[in-house]
Amino acid sequence: MKQAVYPGSFDPITRGHLDIIRRSASVFDHLTVLLAINPDKTPNFTVEERLEMVRLVTKDIPNVTVDAFQGLMVDYARKNEITVIVRGLRAVSDFENEFQMALTNRKMYPEAETLFLTTSLENMYLSSSMVRDVARFGGNIEPFVPDEIVEEVAKRLLLTEGEEAK
Ligand code: ADP
Repeated sequence: MKQAVYPGSFDPITRGHLDIIRRSASVFDHLTVLLAINPDKTPNFTVEERLEMVRLVTKDIPNVTVDAFQGLMVDYARKNEITVIVRGLRAVSDFENEFQMALTNRKMYPEAETLFLTTSLENMYLSSSMVRDVARFGGNIEPFVPDEIVEEVAKRLLLTEGEEAK
């Protein structure tokens, strides 16, 4: 059985992430979407909130499961006998970081391959931080996040008067 892992912050999950999830789930027997907990980052949504949102929007994809992990993603992959790491590439600006991460991961876990899926054209400009910026000031995020979470994300991120942006 060919298993893959798709790690990310998903703060929040976007239509771009979901597209990568659907496409990789059709290539592999099983895909784990792994919410990587990074203690250096201050996310807008808690681990539980992000897990719940990812679970909700992927619940119709039978070979996808969702998990969270704090630590080295390669340790998670090794422990679960997963040898494919999926990442998404949008623009040239993603390349340098992704390249560095893939090479570092290969040094630590040579049995695994990082595979990159190119974004779909309509998600090229899409990032979680862009969603957060639009939502903060009351913009319409419907084109950017899956239908099931539009309301929740908009409500949680909207700045009320006097509140400062995070
Ligand atoms: P990280 O903090 O690890 O970069 P993200 O949640 O921002 O986590 O992204 C996870 C992965 O999804 C990364 O490989 C990123 O390049 C990819 N990704 C993010 N947005 C898109 C998009 N719109 N289209 C394709 N891939 C994307």
